[in-house]
Amino acid sequence: MNPRRSDAIVIGGGLVGAAIALGLRDHGLDTVLLDEGDIAHRASRGNFGLVWVQSKGLGAPWYQRWTRGSAGEWPALAADLATRTGLDLALQQPGGVHLCLSEEEFEDRAGRMARMQAEAGNHGFDYRMIRAPELRDMLPGLGPSVVGASFTPYDGHASPLALLQALHRAFVAQGGAYVPEAKVTAATAAPHDFGVETPAGAFAAPRIVLAAGLGNAELAPRFGLAAPVRPQRGQVLVTERARPVLPMPTTTVRQTGEGTIMLGDSMEEVGFDIRQSPPVMAEIARRAALSFPWVGDLSIVRAWSALRVMAPDGLPIYDQSERFPGAFTANCHSGVTLAGAHARMLAPMIAAGALDPMLDPFTARRFDVPRAA
Ligand SMILES: Cc1cc2nc3c(=O)[nH]c(=O)nc-3n(C[C@H](O)[C@H](O)[C@H](O)COP(=O)(O)OP(=O)(O)OC[C@H]3O[C@@H](n4cnc5c(N)ncnc54)[C@H](O)[C@@H]3O)c2cc1C
Repeated sequence: MNPRRSDAIVIGGGLVGAAIALGLRDHGLDTVLLDEGDIAHRASRGNFGLVWVQSKGLGAPWYQRWTRGSAGEWPALAADLATRTGLDLALQQPGGVHLCLSEEEFEDRAGRMARMQAEAGNHGFDYRMIRAPELRDMLPGLGPSVVGASFTPYDGHASPLALLQALHRAFVAQGGAYVPEAKVTAATAAPHDFGVETPAGAFAAPRIVLAAGLGNAELAPRFGLAAPVRPQRGQVLVTERARPVLPMPTTTVRQTGEGTIMLGDSMEEVGFDIRQSPPVMAEIARRAALSFPWVGDLSIVRAWSALRVMAPDGLPIYDQSERFPGAFTANCHSGVTLAGAHARMLAPMIAAGALDPMLDPFTARRFDVPRAA
C-alpha cells in the first residue's frame, strides 16, 4: 500500500510533539502527528503544571536562556490557543518561590541562585532570597518551619491538560492530521526521505521529528540520532478544592485554576515502575504540611505517578541527524515550561530545515566522550 505523503511527520502526541506539530502546521507544512495511544508512558498527562524558570540551567546558562525565552512566549501561546480553541489554559506568571525548611537549605539555595546570576552575565537573572517574616505577607498561612525562600519573577503555572488538549485541537483545526493508535514499528531513513509503518498505516515525508518521549531512546538510532533518555518517576497528590489562597506557585505546592492544591513531586530512579509508593507520598504530604499547615485540613482526592523523560545531565536534547538530514529529535523533562519555545521557536527552525546555533549545546553529541575529547 502506498504511504500517505506529507511535508512532515511528528512521532509522539505528547506536549513536545503536539507543540512542534502545531508550529510546523502554522508554518504551512502539511503535518502528520502519530501517537502510540493510551498504553504508552505519557509524562504529558501526569505532570505538575509549572512554567518554571528559576532552577533551570545551573552550570548551563544556555538552558536558562532557552527556558526564560519559553516562559516569555507563554502569554502569547496561551492567548493564541484560547482564541483558536476556546480553552482557558489557566496561565498565571506572578513569579514563584522555592521554600526552604532549614537554614542549611536556605544557604544552599542562596549559593545556587548567586551562581545562576553570575553565569547569566549580561542576560541578567533577577532573584531575591526572602526571609520568613516578609514571606508570610506574600504567602498566607505559611508554616513556622519555613525559614525563607528564593523568588524569581519569571515563574508561573498553567493547566497542563488544557495545554495538551488545546495544542491538539488547534493543530487539527489548522488542518493537521492527528493519527492515534499509530505506534511506529518500522522505519526507513535516507536524507530528506523518511518512511514509517504503524498499525494505522504507512507514512512518508522529507522531514521527521522524533518527539516520542521515552520512546525516542529506541527510535532515534534508526534515524542516525541518539536520545539517551531514561525514566524518572514523580508522584503528585491533589487535594479537594479550597478557596483561592495561594497567590503564587512554589516548587512543590500550587493551587490550580479549579482551586485544588497540587502537592509534588518526587524524583525517583525506579526504571519503568509506575506504581505509587506510600512512603514517598507521605513525605510529599509531610513537607507540604510543614510549608502550609492548613494543607493538613484538606482531603487528598487524587494521587498518581508518572515518568519524566530525563537525559543523563537533565538538559533537553535537540538535534538534526548528520547522516539523514531532515530527521530531528526533541527531548526534555520540562515540556510544559518549554511549550512556548517548542511551538514558537523550535518548530520554525525545523520548518526552515536547520536548528539555530543557539541550540548547539543541546546536541546529544555532548554525551559522546571519545568524540568530544
Ligand atoms: C511527575 C511529573 C511532574 C512534572 N512536572 C512538570 C512541571 O511542573 N513543568 C514542566 O514543564 N514539566 C513537568 N514535567 C515534565 C513534562 O511532563 C514532560 O517534559 C513532558 O510531558 C514530556 O512530553 P513528551 O511529549 O516528550 O513525552 P510524553 O508525554 O511521554 O509523550 C510521548 C508520546 O509519544 C508517544 N510514543 C512513544 N513511542 C511512540 C512510537 N514508537 N510511535 C508513536 N508514538 C509514540 C506516546 O504515545 C506518548 O503520547 C513533569 C513530569 C512528571 C512525570
